[in-house]
Amino acid sequence: MLERTGIPTEDDLKKVTPDKERLAKGPVVIVECFQKIPCNPCAISCKFGAIKPFEDINDLPQVDFDKCTGCGICISSCPGLAIFVIDENYSDKEALIKLPYEMLPLPQKGEEVYALDRAGEVVDKVKVVKVQKIKNKTNIISILVPKNMSMTVRSIKVEGKKNER
Ligand code: SF4
Ligand code: SF4
Repeated sequence: MLERTGIPTEDDLKKVTPDKERLAKGPVVIVECFQKIPCNPCAISCKFGAIKPFEDINDLPQVDFDKCTGCGICISSCPGLAIFVIDENYSDKEALIKLPYEMLPLPQKGEEVYALDRAGEVVDKVKVVKVQKIKNKTNIISILVPKNMSMTVRSIKVEGKKNER
């Protein structure tokens, strides 16, 4: 299924999602990388050893969620835009998602944007709370979503602006 659609199945996602206890502790990475390709900047970028060193360049990333601080540094290193940080503890009703964003122009802090699922379908309208411009790497956008959408929303679309690279 993943090979045909590019969209991971629930079984794929279960393998990379932290358990409820870890999610409840605060920000944590989710690495949605499922295809063995010669690529490893995620493991090199994590200074906390949370993404285990690769034995082979084609390995899939293996995450030690207890070592992850949720810093988000690895997000901008991933050419596959496959890394997210989820903070289920942001508030009573909202989770914070840090996601990679390659389009221009960037949204502004405080701007409302469309939230998209993994298939690129609009599922909500959400608020941008932080924009991190990363020199020579992928920018990081932080958005707030209803808690029940934290495992659904994986990208954004900026309203009324042409999405250009
Ligand atoms: S979010 Fe930070 S600590 Fe967690 S895996 Fe990425 S770089 Fe490492
Ligand atoms: S950098 Fe991204 S695409 Fe490359 S192995 Fe890591 S998660 Fe996968």
